[in-house]
Amino acid sequence: MVAAAFLWENGNRNYKINNLTPLSTMGQLGVSLGTGKTNGGSVDKLNSQKVPAPATPNKVYYRNKVIVLMYHEVTPDQIDAGTVLVSKFKRQIELMKANGFKWITMKQYSDFILKGTPVPDNAVLMTFDDGYESFYQYAYPVLKEHKVPATMFIILNTVDNPKHPGIPKLTWDQIDTMHENGIDFYNHTYDSHILAPTDASHKAARAVLAGPMYLEKLKRKETKEEFKLRVKTDLSKAQAMLKEKLKNDIDVLAFPYGAYTKSTLEVCRELGIKITFTVKPGINKKGQLNGYRVNAGGVKNDPEELIKLMKNGAEQKAKKLSSPFDLLNQGPLKTLEHVVPEPEGHRKSVVKNTKSQAPSVNVVGSGKAA
Ligand SMILES: [Zn+2]
Repeated sequence: MVAAAFLWENGNRNYKINNLTPLSTMGQLGVSLGTGKTNGGSVDKLNSQKVPAPATPNKVYYRNKVIVLMYHEVTPDQIDAGTVLVSKFKRQIELMKANGFKWITMKQYSDFILKGTPVPDNAVLMTFDDGYESFYQYAYPVLKEHKVPATMFIILNTVDNPKHPGIPKLTWDQIDTMHENGIDFYNHTYDSHILAPTDASHKAARAVLAGPMYLEKLKRKETKEEFKLRVKTDLSKAQAMLKEKLKNDIDVLAFPYGAYTKSTLEVCRELGIKITFTVKPGINKKGQLNGYRVNAGGVKNDPEELIKLMKNGAEQKAKKLSSPFDLLNQGPLKTLEHVVPEPEGHRKSVVKNTKSQAPSVNVVGSGKAA
């Protein structure tokens, strides 16, 4: 049963709308999500005309700090605004290598953040979100070739789960293969990568880790305690699965849409998830438990500009949001129009599922129907 009117399909960039959504909203969604594709060609053209800056392999840009890069999909064609081309991704890797950036593992990152264990100068942690199958096909071969350690944040209930429609996700076989070859897998929730309404009007939706949701059956909002329990149940299920399947010995979580509250953080710390990640840009020092990430994916990415930014220690001129989902963390609830246009992360995809394949996620109830 689908309890929510609005579901941002788990880990998919397509916005799922059922018949309760006003048509006017759908029109706005189409317009805002569609713009990325038309930009693709012109950005590529621009990049090819640039003269690359000379490499500075022996320079220290920052010390005792880590830049965490965030990606979603790496694909051979610009499918939409949220993906980065394989060619650009390769260029990024080459530029990082040529300019003396040093990739570290999540374990090194965790030890650095928690205990101050030294990391190399110009340390970089590569992270990917959502567990798309394309990661195995396109990003992993590049990482493997260049011996780049990386972390993938997976939505546990989408792995090997044909009941989760939409963009294909990784299988456990693929995960096992990659896990043996330098890729770590951590928590992107068990099944809470969705938006859901917060009141009966269904006019506004919010990431389900960002606060109490509206309970359709009971015709009221969750209490703070119910919210915490729901989050705790979801996250601990994911933790248990990661431990069982991959023998993970540290617990790390990336918040879907970068959305969280003080309560969500409290739950994480209660569960022993000491390291979490937002989608806010910045650089991480010792003690930065809720980490910053620089978006290195998306159609707008320019590898040369990325390297320039990294050489500046991820300092950006203006306090720019790396994702519209940052809005979810700021102030009162936003309307759909505010949260939907996601140009860098979750790309729009063809909604293949019909009514019979609709996601069976009960986002606001105590459990989920299979
Ligand atoms: Zn995600």
